Amino acid sequence: MQDWQRTHTCGALRAEHIGNDVVVNGWVRSVRDHGDLVFVDLRDRTGMVQICADASSASGLHDTLAGVKPESVLSIRGIVRRRRPGMENPRLETGSVEIAVTRVDTLNQCRQPLPFQLNDEAQMSLVNEELRLRYRYLDLRRPRLYEMLKLRHEVITSIRSFLNREGFLEIETPLFTRSTPEGARDYLVPYRLEPGLFYALPQSPQQYKQLLMVGGVERYYQIARCFRDEAQRADRQPEFTQLDLEMSFVTQDDILNLTEALTIELITTHSTKTLGSRPFTRLTYDEAIARYGTDKPDLRYGLELRDLNHLFQDTGFSVFRDTIESGGFVRGLIYPGGAGLSRKNLDDLTRFARQIGAKGLVHLAWATDSDSEAPVLQGPAARHLTADEARSLVRAMGAKPGDLILAVADSFRVASAVLGRLRCEIARHLSLAPRDVLHFCWVTDFPLVEWSEDEQRWDASHHPFTMPHLEDLEYLESDPGRVRAQCYDIVCNGIEWGSGSIRIARADIQSRVFALLGISQEIQQERFGHMLEAFAYGAPPHGGIAPGIDRLIMLLTDNDNIREVMAFPKIGGGGDPLMGAPAPVDASQLAELGLQIVPRARDSVHGGDPGSNDRA
Ligand code: ASP
Repeated sequence: MQDWQRTHTCGALRAEHIGNDVVVNGWVRSVRDHGDLVFVDLRDRTGMVQICADASSASGLHDTLAGVKPESVLSIRGIVRRRRPGMENPRLETGSVEIAVTRVDTLNQCRQPLPFQLNDEAQMSLVNEELRLRYRYLDLRRPRLYEMLKLRHEVITSIRSFLNREGFLEIETPLFTRSTPEGARDYLVPYRLEPGLFYALPQSPQQYKQLLMVGGVERYYQIARCFRDEAQRADRQPEFTQLDLEMSFVTQDDILNLTEALTIELITTHSTKTLGSRPFTRLTYDEAIARYGTDKPDLRYGLELRDLNHLFQDTGFSVFRDTIESGGFVRGLIYPGGAGLSRKNLDDLTRFARQIGAKGLVHLAWATDSDSEAPVLQGPAARHLTADEARSLVRAMGAKPGDLILAVADSFRVASAVLGRLRCEIARHLSLAPRDVLHFCWVTDFPLVEWSEDEQRWDASHHPFTMPHLEDLEYLESDPGRVRAQCYDIVCNGIEWGSGSIRIARADIQSRVFALLGISQEIQQERFGHMLEAFAYGAPPHGGIAPGIDRLIMLLTDNDNIREVMAFPKIGGGGDPLMGAPAPVDASQLAELGLQIVPRARDSVHGGDPGSNDRA
């Protein structure tokens, strides 16, 4: 052991060590020079300890300590002693003791001015994120980030131990592969030996995990890196990590039950948050849209949407009547206590509703001095409603005096979506969602396909390997929009955490679904021939799911920013400010790959989602 090597970690020292001769190693958090006395806070990953030298300390130690620069790396030898009365720091676990230094080894000086003061959390929140990521190795020295990495590690360890107990095998699947569609663009890797050929980095291990099932593995998982070139958002990264799993000889319920048990174990082990419901709430897609206006409902609060068509079939209020007559819907939502909103608040709500697709927003405030037998409703639409209609409306909505009733008349889809967004806004204004609750729910039975107006074709709602409901199979060609899929999302607090499905295991059905998605027989063979072929050799019934690891850590740590829960995240369009990636390469490398850079016309640069450019 070298002289400078530690006998204790910084965070380990307590009163019981008083009198011990110890060596600690770490980074200088701060230096406080009081003339006679100099204090250094030394930090390693376990915590912090105070080092003290006084003018009478052995030769030059006082001056050495007084001269060290924050973030330098020191080895400190000294005697643990009790802090002087009144000098204890109860916020620090080592706060009752300090080390009276007898030797200082400077293992490495911090020679550069620091780009930010990482010992001040309040200041850190103001530091430009790109700068932090440029110096991520400094940023990571903050205990808060270390704790996040530790939690992430512990969560992954728990996942492994749970699934290992359940008989799963952890198996790595290739990163150099072919395109596997999950709705994003691929990242491509050129193939040197034959210019013009490319690998695609996997958007998910979807096909490999299914092939593992065909291969008889039965229970697979992987802490899988996925690569998707799509528009960046606060909760998205071009490369991210999923818990990818797949099982054979199972039904949807088996996968839901296993995932639910795993989730409950993770939350109860790694968080003090309360679970919103146990067992997890289950909603079909249709129910979720009808009640919450979204397939990612936040169930920490009620505020359900209501259908109002039955009240207004013969109304004199033409906005409602015309919509209903033309096959549309009048749907409503309560803003609790919203009758007192100002004109400006109401205008803001209406503008918001218009921005997100509504033609208008009807608002009716129930004056507090009227009762449910003769509710007095106020708002531009109020004079068009009869007393009977007003009475039935407040009843149907379950409103109370002082509430504001919001209604949208439009197609079912638009009315639901708009009210669904308003529901979230209202909950935000009224702080209805408790932060310490994680309300998980399952949303099942999504439509198999969605019509893309832009592309004028059907797109897979999840991915093309999802099994339709057997009883809907007959409509696959004649009425694709009504075919429900055996798929499910796990949603928490309004955030989609993962999706999965029972898979197609028969080549004929797989081929029909590909055809529905506009993939010709020829392209099916070229791109997915291996899947169709594999199914012809005896594929077991199988299914799986892939919850996001990054999103889970975000939920556990109350972070809205995915970059805060990854060691080295990307920024903006996918740049890594620390490594300086992406970067140009040598002309010789390009030549070797048979590649030539052709300057791109500005308007062909496209940062958005490709929708399903890659489905075919
Ligand atoms: N491959 C899907 C995804 O990445 C998950 C699954 O269906 O298991 O979202």
